[in-house]
Amino acid sequence: MVACDNSIGKAARAASGSLPCRSYSTMVGGRSEERYRVAGDFIGPGSRELGAERVCSRCAERAPVREEETVNEGDVRADRGTEPGAGGMATSLGDGLWLLDLEFQGRRGVVAAFLLAGGGELALIETGPTSTLPVLLAGVRAAGFDPADITALLLTHIHLDHAGAAGVLVRDLLPRATVHVHPIGAPHLVEPGKLLASATRIYSDRMDSLWGEVVPVPAERVLPLEDGQPLSVAGRVLTAIFTPGHASHHVTYWDAAAGTAFTGDVGGIRMQGTDYVCPPTPPPDLDPEAWARSVGRLRELAARRLCLTHFGCYDDAAVHLDRLLPELDVFQDLATGALRGGADQETLTAILHDRMADQLHAGPETLVNLEWATPSYMAALGMTRLLTKRGVV
Ligand SMILES: [Zn+2]
Repeated sequence: MVACDNSIGKAARAASGSLPCRSYSTMVGGRSEERYRVAGDFIGPGSRELGAERVCSRCAERAPVREEETVNEGDVRADRGTEPGAGGMATSLGDGLWLLDLEFQGRRGVVAAFLLAGGGELALIETGPTSTLPVLLAGVRAAGFDPADITALLLTHIHLDHAGAAGVLVRDLLPRATVHVHPIGAPHLVEPGKLLASATRIYSDRMDSLWGEVVPVPAERVLPLEDGQPLSVAGRVLTAIFTPGHASHHVTYWDAAAGTAFTGDVGGIRMQGTDYVCPPTPPPDLDPEAWARSVGRLRELAARRLCLTHFGCYDDAAVHLDRLLPELDVFQDLATGALRGGADQETLTAILHDRMADQLHAGPETLVNLEWATPSYMAALGMTRLLTKRGVV
């Protein structure tokens, strides 16, 4: 294979030595196996499928798509005890709180939902997409509960990786559940056509494999929130805190008694076992100033614990939040410089990918997970839209 240094992050290069463009070696059961595409070449415009072949958009090298390399069959058995999809994962965090790993795209540690149990009630914070619904339900059962007993769905925002399954859940399993969402997001749950149209422009024929079915939530099941509204669910009181920035309709759920904030995407993205806090900057309504104000509100909570949809709960809330806004500034500066210099989307994607890889300080698999949680091409699209809209570039 042709060496193609540009298409792989420096951290991944450092982790695995000099690497070919399209794949790298990883240790599996004590053996070194070549099995994954690098993250920048994994999804989005970094590569495109041509029948049974892929073409690297950087070095133009072609290679057949092997089954274990396809994007929908990510294999994360390395370094883990059991295979994904083996029956749902529920990690008890105490006080009737469980972390459910939704094993998005077959990968652990990318998309979470949180199960709350108490007072004879069950509630979910986030549903994940419909593509992971069987794993979600298996996770609820693994925690020892019947999914049919869920009475409330609390959505941080309506992006499909967070809320895509809400309509199917209400239709098929939870006809009486209430769905809590920001008032700006509510109409898009009831009539998801516009949301799906814009997502289809980005994901095209990968919509179904990524997200699965998306159906409307009946209007009478949707309860638009108010900022600061207390919610009595699953034996506790959560406060809905409007936290725009990543999306205009983003909500954080605050459990004051437990000192836990469920921050969706506004608290940043952090892969387990790492310190890097990455700002997810997708289109269409990214707003760095609103995001900064939201982080200010999160700071004021003085949370003991942040629970992130991507991925997991962290006890160093203040330090974590300190890292988020400076990195958002870095993304903005990198994008501004690149776009003013005439960079196209592919180049900006590579720049942001390399920044993530540089800062992550983890192995290549973690970098692939980070790319699934917040794809660099999506970050590039969001930054480009923001900076163009504002006349910066
Ligand atoms: Zn997300």
